[in-house]
Amino acid sequence: MEKFEVIVVGAGLAGLSAAYALAREGVEAVVIERGDYPGAKNVTGGRLYTRPLQNFLPELWRETPFERPVTNEIITLLSPDKSVTLRFRSEEFARLPAHSHTVLRGTLDRWLAKKAEEKGAMLVTKNRVDDLLKKDGKVVGVLAAGEELGADVVIVCDGALSLMAEKAGLRSPGSPRDYAVGFKEIIELPSQTIDDRFGLKPEEGVANLFLGDLTKGRFGGGFLYTNRSSLSLGLVIRIKDLAEGNPPKEAPLFLDEFKERPEIAPLIAGGETVEYSAHLISEAGYAGLIRPFADGLLVAGDAAGFSLNVGLTVRGMEFAIASGVIAAQAVKQAREKKDFSATSLSVYQNMLADSFVLKDLKTFQHAPDFLDNPRLFQHYPQMAGDLLQNLFTVGPEPRQKFSTAVWEKVTWTETWEILKDLQKGLKI
Ligand SMILES: Cc1cc2nc3c(=O)[nH]c(=O)nc-3n(C[C@H](O)[C@H](O)[C@H](O)COP(=O)(O)OP(=O)(O)OC[C@H]3O[C@@H](n4cnc5c(N)ncnc54)[C@H](O)[C@@H]3O)c2cc1C
Repeated sequence: MEKFEVIVVGAGLAGLSAAYALAREGVEAVVIERGDYPGAKNVTGGRLYTRPLQNFLPELWRETPFERPVTNEIITLLSPDKSVTLRFRSEEFARLPAHSHTVLRGTLDRWLAKKAEEKGAMLVTKNRVDDLLKKDGKVVGVLAAGEELGADVVIVCDGALSLMAEKAGLRSPGSPRDYAVGFKEIIELPSQTIDDRFGLKPEEGVANLFLGDLTKGRFGGGFLYTNRSSLSLGLVIRIKDLAEGNPPKEAPLFLDEFKERPEIAPLIAGGETVEYSAHLISEAGYAGLIRPFADGLLVAGDAAGFSLNVGLTVRGMEFAIASGVIAAQAVKQAREKKDFSATSLSVYQNMLADSFVLKDLKTFQHAPDFLDNPRLFQHYPQMAGDLLQNLFTVGPEPRQKFSTAVWEKVTWTETWEILKDLQKGLKI
């Protein structure tokens, strides 16, 4: 049986970061990816927060093929016939290095794979890992394309549904409550057209999140990110809500309808859809974390549950990169001791706990509870639209006071419900 020091399963950002960091330290690493090339099967909305990554692969961030820095944050609440938009622009966000950038995975993952290969990592594409090899309960390699390959450590980075972590006995099959499915199109447009439509200078970008009628009251939301010469447009809906939705509706139809909204249609007019993708995303947050180590095995990125949706921010990519690097550091320590047992590899858990990965997931552990509230996805967007319509309307009759208009909408019962929701929100 051919044997390597480390086998990494999956060439997403977690797997490639682990491979890069291992190869940089002179550790033999082979990455096995089922897709035709890194990035082929990877989906993200499109924004990477780079500041948390300053201490992870710092030599790379200056030459990374980012799309645009995000200088404008936009939140849009949609009701069936109205929308309310809040646009935030910040000079600080416009200063380099920017706090976050839009990215395209087809470009980013291929670039990172090249960097890892230049450091000496091996990449095998179009090969699926089908199983873990175990000896006396310890993981000793993988079965890929009918071939047995040995390793001191296997780093599992196979994404949100991680079959390998399941095979290692570290996670059980996910519940529809804990996962959402995302649909996304990349729509090409000339960069000048994007600048004009979004009111941007060439080195500026927009991240627009949407909440409300686009998911028809179901848990989820939409996103639109400006790239250099394309837009990433998509939406995410929790699987449980898709399954239980009444009336039932085929998931891709939500994106079709979203594209027809008057808030979206003019922004994408004349654009060509060059990529369509769908992917799962974990919504469980801290409660969905697994033990990310076993004898001869580490788990990083989405496979370990490292993703966090707090409504205003959606994060997974920088957790994937950081956990991949930390996994490599843990392997290096275990290698120095020549001990790849679970006890030795448990240093990974401690290092994660000291990093922003577990700290941020813990800080926002109540976010999934707060978001598990249908009022956020229908009632509040509707109420905001109705209230503003009332305040902006001057009709034939004499006007009522603004405060009277507000109290008509925000009754005592309503105030009580808002306070209850706020109380949950204040735990975040
Ligand atoms: C719609 C959507 C929007 C999102 N928006 C954002 C955002 O704006 N910002 C953000 O930070 N995060 C976002 N996320 C989350 C982010 O994309 C993920 O957290 C990130 O991609 C995780 O990287 P990863 O390397 O862990 O997993 P992945 O990128 O999923 O990589 C896993 C890799 O493993 C491979 N693989 C799987 N099984 C096998 C096997 N058996 N053998 C070989 N290879 C295998 C896959 O082909 C894939 O290449 C979003 C996710 C979705 C779905």
